[in-house]
Amino acid sequence: MTDPIRSTAAEMAAALAAGEISSVELTQAHLDRTAAVDGAVHAYLHVDGAGALDQAKAIDDRRAAGEQLHPMAGVPIAVKDVMATKGLPTTCGSRILEGWIPPYDATLVRRLREAGLPILGKLNMDEFAMGSSTEHSAYGPTHNPWDLTRIPGGSGGGSSSVVASFQAPLAIGTDTGGSIRQPAAVTGTVGTKPTYGGVSRYGLVALASSLDQAGPCTRTVLDAALLHDLIGGHDPLDSTSIDAPVPPVVEAARRADVTGMRIGIVKELTGAGFQAGVQQRFDEAIAALVARGAEVVEVSCPNFEYALAAYYLILPSEASSNLAKFDAMRYGLRVLPDGVADPSAEQVMAATRDAGFGDEVKRRIILGTYALSSGYYDAYYGSAQKVRRLIADDFARAFETADVLASPTAPTTAFKLGDKLDDPMAMYLNDIATIPANLAGVPGMSVPTGLAPEDGLPTGIQFLAPATKDERLYAVGAALEAALTETWGGPLLDRAPDLLLASADLRVGAPNSADATTGGAR
Ligand code: GLN
Repeated sequence: MTDPIRSTAAEMAAALAAGEISSVELTQAHLDRTAAVDGAVHAYLHVDGAGALDQAKAIDDRRAAGEQLHPMAGVPIAVKDVMATKGLPTTCGSRILEGWIPPYDATLVRRLREAGLPILGKLNMDEFAMGSSTEHSAYGPTHNPWDLTRIPGGSGGGSSSVVASFQAPLAIGTDTGGSIRQPAAVTGTVGTKPTYGGVSRYGLVALASSLDQAGPCTRTVLDAALLHDLIGGHDPLDSTSIDAPVPPVVEAARRADVTGMRIGIVKELTGAGFQAGVQQRFDEAIAALVARGAEVVEVSCPNFEYALAAYYLILPSEASSNLAKFDAMRYGLRVLPDGVADPSAEQVMAATRDAGFGDEVKRRIILGTYALSSGYYDAYYGSAQKVRRLIADDFARAFETADVLASPTAPTTAFKLGDKLDDPMAMYLNDIATIPANLAGVPGMSVPTGLAPEDGLPTGIQFLAPATKDERLYAVGAALEAALTETWGGPLLDRAPDLLLASADLRVGAPNSADATTGGAR
């Protein structure tokens, strides 16, 4: 291995197995990278260097003793801060959980530990996973490694940028309406939202329980498959977990075969409303797949038009209920009201929730409480649930003529930090293409399609498959990746600015930053 941090996770696993590098060396290389670049990127909320090195050492010892290890053992990983990690802070990007150290591991974290993947730390996110830019984090935004003045996507901007900036080969994200796929698209990385119930939600702090799904954030499709295989599968602790083997995702990614695959282009999710360069790269990606033996069909999903509206009733409704537990009584922040001598529990709750939640969280709690209130329930929540059924029916019809569906992942490339912060509707529109999958529970994946000619920033294609047929995403994703990597003459991320060499200059506001060249230092 010439450059350990630029290798894929699959290559790292092979090098570890061959004894070419130790897990301690590999983990240390990533921690060094973080020390060099994360001041500029801010992917992490918490780095656990000592803990990761301890886990790495334990794996190296077991390997030296001749133990049979998991194929991914020793490859480091970073985890979105929405996952409970025993002994490590878990904030969900919120002040209300500041200082909380969970007494248990989420099931998927336990699986990572059992397989021997050192956990590097916890990743930044929009507060309680509400957002598309990571700007709603209470701890400051994450920056896109391609251009530090731009958003890395959200809510999982920490998960996308940590892999895009080579601080970790693998990361875990969660996707309630697009938070794995949209960040992947705008950072030139790969992100999968598995079938709902495909990966355990136990220990994942819930945003909207009927929509949330954890999944892999990686640089290649094969790496995503290897991670999906590791974290997926039945969990008796999650009542919505699918009781069936993980779909054959690794095999599909390795075969990368699209011969005879029918790709349905969703009429409602192309053309108008999508940035020209995003659309152009999408069209080229489809042509590349056709050249590899896929067929194209056009499908129509007329009810997708109402997906965003239905989502912004269902999500706030569920969130308002899920977030009721942050009451200052059990754990997390407790704020005493000013000037009240003997405050009641209610007054403490009110003061704590007022200080502990950010504006976007409050906005959604109010919206959800309203939508669920008596007299409005049928008109809002009830109607949204009916739309959800219509969207699932649209998918069912589309999958009669297509094996997978495709659309651009996000309408635009990464926008500037601050551009949409004061306009919730503009922020919500980023997920126009990703939300239908969550409403219907079907799996989706975003794969890089190149750089938009107009701004040189990454673009992505989204593939969607019927529930439990996640392997189709990996087949088509890997085929596209192989075709495009050949065209580009190497991985797309090789064309991103090298933060390690340039981090001092690229720091936002520094004299030579992209910001400075367009408008002067801040
Ligand atoms: N951006 C969407 C939202 O704000 C999706 C969030 C997510 O997937 N967690 O709700």
